[in-house]
Amino acid sequence: MPETKCKKDEDFNEWYNEIVELADLCDKRYPIKGMNVWRPYGWKLMNHVDKLIHEEMRKTNHQEVNFPLLIPESSFKKEEEHIEGFGSEVFWITHAGLNQLEERWLLRPTSETAMYPMFSLWIRSHADLPLKIYQIVNTFRYETKQTRAFIRVREIHFFEAHTCHVNFESAEDQIREDKEIAKRLFEKMCLPFIFCKRPEWDKFAGAYYTISIDVLMPSNRTLQLGSIHQYRDNFSKPYEISYETDEGTHAYCHQTTYGMSERILGALVGIHGDNKGLVMPPEVAPRQVVIIPIIFKGKERIVMDACKDIYDNLIKIGIRVHIDDRDITPGNKYYDWELKGVPLRIEIGPRDVENQQMVLVRRDTGEKKSVPIQKADEIVQQIFGLINQNLYLKAKEFLDKNIHRVHSVEEARNLEGIIEIPWCGNEKCALEIENVLEGNTLGEPIDDSDRPDNCYCSLCGQSAEKWMRYARTY
Ligand SMILES: [Zn+2]
Repeated sequence: MPETKCKKDEDFNEWYNEIVELADLCDKRYPIKGMNVWRPYGWKLMNHVDKLIHEEMRKTNHQEVNFPLLIPESSFKKEEEHIEGFGSEVFWITHAGLNQLEERWLLRPTSETAMYPMFSLWIRSHADLPLKIYQIVNTFRYETKQTRAFIRVREIHFFEAHTCHVNFESAEDQIREDKEIAKRLFEKMCLPFIFCKRPEWDKFAGAYYTISIDVLMPSNRTLQLGSIHQYRDNFSKPYEISYETDEGTHAYCHQTTYGMSERILGALVGIHGDNKGLVMPPEVAPRQVVIIPIIFKGKERIVMDACKDIYDNLIKIGIRVHIDDRDITPGNKYYDWELKGVPLRIEIGPRDVENQQMVLVRRDTGEKKSVPIQKADEIVQQIFGLINQNLYLKAKEFLDKNIHRVHSVEEARNLEGIIEIPWCGNEKCALEIENVLEGNTLGEPIDDSDRPDNCYCSLCGQSAEKWMRYARTY
């Protein structure tokens, strides 16, 4: 079978660039860089990821909204750190038709400044709280670094949840819920990740603190898939989002946000794929099973009937199944569906029909076996379970193997992946460690409360307060 020109383990970045187009996810030839065209197969995949997000939002009582794309400059300017953080990435609108606008508008880079003036109108009393809303929309950021499909783009397919609460503690509860959402969501996509509490100097503009969701790509660079922010009352004060308490006084809300994007697709492609193409976890695969009739002259009818029976059985239990009856060789069909990462292929020829058997081929392992046609529904579901387990464990093993806890920068020098190193808590030291390791500061582990014991900051020699993580990042 033909394989990709670039091999995943030889040149991951080139392999990635090749595969996103070969597998029909997107088309990069659109005349604005970083604004790629979603092709039907890629868009379907994104839709299945979004579906999982909608489900999580429904389960946790978030309501879906849809805010305008344009934000007036005056709204955008209310929170100073926020403008400072986003100012250089914004697309401005200065004209409407032939008229120059009196006040400039901008394309949302994220929707805090669109939503919060409205929140201040919506929230009156503590009975209006918590307010939990979300939207999945496109946002715009002017990236100056080299763009990469799904990973670094200028038009972003963005999920953003925004919440308002009576106080800090209640907002902290929301952050705990967000972390649970992330765990459930990424497990379904077989993507093990780490939470990092971003350093003070690199948190979201306007946030009190930021927790990132990072995965490790096969190139040993991390990719941030999402972030969860505690705003405290940093935005509610300038935007006057307050409520009347039981005692009749006014209090400012505490707010959180949770954001994710199509970078999830980047991780699905990069982490699970191989030299034959994509390998999709069943939960999000646009097509979960493809049936390929092996036709011989004179036996067309019985083979197609058997295919149809299996199809009906699988459809009944909600499986996304497709019969590929195109007039090309079975070999070409195998190649196509392997490229697209369909988790399971069923082959069926006249001899199989006689024996009431079909051949199953797993995309993740290439494993092949004959099973009874009657049991198709039951067996397919079992195998989906095995595929999930295998994809998750493979990725987890790679992640675990490449997190290195060391005690000095010397020890870290030739290591690849994620480095955890004792750190005094001083920004200057962290930035210097970045230089020496030629990586970026990811942040502190949050799921790991152990303080480094008897350790010293490898730069200043003072006693180390915490572990700090470093990695090369996308
Ligand atoms: Zn130090």
